[in-house]
Amino acid sequence: MSASAATPAPNDFTFYDPFDGMRFGPQQCFLCGTPTMPRADSVPVFAEWLMTRYNLHERQIKLLDLSIVQFNDLRIPCCPQCRTKHVEPLEQEVEEAAQQGVESLRALGDKTLFLWLGKMMYGVLVTEILNELEPLAVPQYPLAENAQMLRRFQAFFQAFQALRVPVEFDDFSPASVFVLEVSQTQDDMPFEYDDDLSTLTFSIKLDNAVLTACLVDNGIIRQAMRRVYQDALRPLHPVQVAEFKARVYYASYILNVVPDYYPRALAPGATHIVMDTLIDDITGDIFNPWDNAAYGQSLLEMWKRWHIPLEEIMREPDQPLSFLYDADGAPRLLARYPEEGGTEQNLAAS
Ligand SMILES: [Zn+2]
Repeated sequence: MSASAATPAPNDFTFYDPFDGMRFGPQQCFLCGTPTMPRADSVPVFAEWLMTRYNLHERQIKLLDLSIVQFNDLRIPCCPQCRTKHVEPLEQEVEEAAQQGVESLRALGDKTLFLWLGKMMYGVLVTEILNELEPLAVPQYPLAENAQMLRRFQAFFQAFQALRVPVEFDDFSPASVFVLEVSQTQDDMPFEYDDDLSTLTFSIKLDNAVLTACLVDNGIIRQAMRRVYQDALRPLHPVQVAEFKARVYYASYILNVVPDYYPRALAPGATHIVMDTLIDDITGDIFNPWDNAAYGQSLLEMWKRWHIPLEEIMREPDQPLSFLYDADGAPRLLARYPEEGGTEQNLAAS
């Protein structure tokens, strides 16, 4: 440690709960609740480096009430302390890893990726919730009126406090994070982003890396998809990545539990708070039953760019169309889509 460095502020071990009084407006820091100067004290939801690198400043996002905002206008209130001590170092860490590519992003680890994706998810979600107070059109699924969604959001925010409070998760990851690699052959989208706010599922593409996460499942979906993820750790065609995302989004949709988090009492002299978790699965199953017809809708949505009709996706109702696996369940190699000459390959044969 440098002797000339200013004495660091002592760690703040108090958890902030914006749900107490529903304090999501521009007057208080999103991480700690300190009063802020609206607009002046804020950070962009999509970091400056992201907007610069992918030319996003003017790009538009359509909100649930159909109003349009620019990436540049998506900001969350943040006090100078949280900005310089927590948000900017996190962004810098991810920026450096992103420059080096997929492996470096994977090496960041679950907690860092959870916090980074979580910050964007939080920003988009709060923008939607605030927007619902003055909507242009009545949203189809009002978030603030959805009790389970609010419970999820609240649970997420507790674990997300790890961005500010020094927290160690006791032997679990609050999220399922997947980092996929896209093969270059037919990849023409340097940046892509989508989310499902009701399940806190989020996906972002940075050149040939696609990060997809359910942010409030305690890693259950990654556990359930461990074989599929293992098989997907190779350069994938974009249509295969889209299928993988459809699986994650659909699994988040049928996930039936919301974790509870419990910070342990702080031991004297401790530098970290240990956080425990509990999932109440006594009252029901962890997942609602998998329904292929509903999963087919998820595929239809993710494959929109390729115009794959539902009839083709559901030709075999018990086994919706897959580009990740062949009919025998072996991982498929897909160089191009549509495939030329209809020749199919699988990894075992190649
Ligand atoms: Zn703050």
